Amino acid sequence: RQAQYRRLRNKPSVTKDGVEVALQMNAGLLVDLPHLEEAGAAGIGLFRTELQFMVASSFPRMRDQQAQYTQILDASGGKPVTFRSLDIGGDKVLPYLRSILEENPAMGWRALRLGLDRPGLLRTQIRALLHAAAGRDLKLMFPMVVEVDEFLQARGLVEKELKHLRRHGHPVPETIRLGVMVEVPSLLFQLEELLGHVDFISVGSNDLFQFFCAVDRGNTRVADRFDPLSPPFLRALKQIVDAADKAHVPVTLCGEMAGNPLAAMALIGLGYRNLSMSPASLGPVKAMLRTLDAGRLSARLLSRMEPGHRDSDIRAFLTRFAEEM
Ligand code: PEP
Ligand code: MG
Repeated sequence: RQAQYRRLRNKPSVTKDGVEVALQMNAGLLVDLPHLEEAGAAGIGLFRTELQFMVASSFPRMRDQQAQYTQILDASGGKPVTFRSLDIGGDKVLPYLRSILEENPAMGWRALRLGLDRPGLLRTQIRALLHAAAGRDLKLMFPMVVEVDEFLQARGLVEKELKHLRRHGHPVPETIRLGVMVEVPSLLFQLEELLGHVDFISVGSNDLFQFFCAVDRGNTRVADRFDPLSPPFLRALKQIVDAADKAHVPVTLCGEMAGNPLAAMALIGLGYRNLSMSPASLGPVKAMLRTLDAGRLSARLLSRMEPGHRDSDIRAFLTRFAEEM
């Protein structure tokens, strides 16, 4: 199998009926970068910047952050990298960051909330990214956005830092694209407004599903109780990709679903054309999509998702479809 996947590395990522699907990879440390070539990924769709913070024994200083981002961009060989601003808090604790014990850490003081409450911290990270991407393209997205205004505040910090760097004669990135992770259901009801402000969005299906079904992603007791491949969640995912397409805003999905061939098949059927996953999943997903008739799948999947369809077991349908393939 491994050899078979390796052979696919340089083969086009196109379905049998000619639909191009970009496959990117998720990463978090410099050691992940060689996978970019090995797995034949189109870029890094999610770079989890908190990893550097989690393996350090104290807050990485601006220069250390900058050095890491520079190395990442250098090692990416010109392939696009989407950085995500710090997503600490919740289950991702930093021993050196004093925090109070929270009853519901996943819904607590984490990610962008922490960044907006401690703007010094977020601004330092933004400055490090701006320095590292000087003369190149910077793509940055913010996690756990609940309201459009939080994105506007975060963008305001980027603009402030940019102004500061320009005033002091520092080189700045050639292009800056700012995006939002869609991982809290509240954004489903602000899609149009959100899409009017962002350069791109990325669906964090791990958190989105956790909050959509109120099912703790790390709790094995309940984690398998609800299926992301069931109509309500698939309809939500379709709503997102449809809205993004209509607004001509690029959309990626970077949660674990993207790396599961059956789920990735469903995502392609819903209209997703950009998936980001762990490097090891690229081979299996590419093998699947190259044998997929996306048009036929899409028609059949969408009709099954209609309310009142007599057979709403989408997972069983997808499995049968995959077997026929
Ligand atoms: C997600 O929530 O789907 C996601 C990609 O981010 P993380 O798993 O780091 O929360
Ligand atoms: Mg998340």
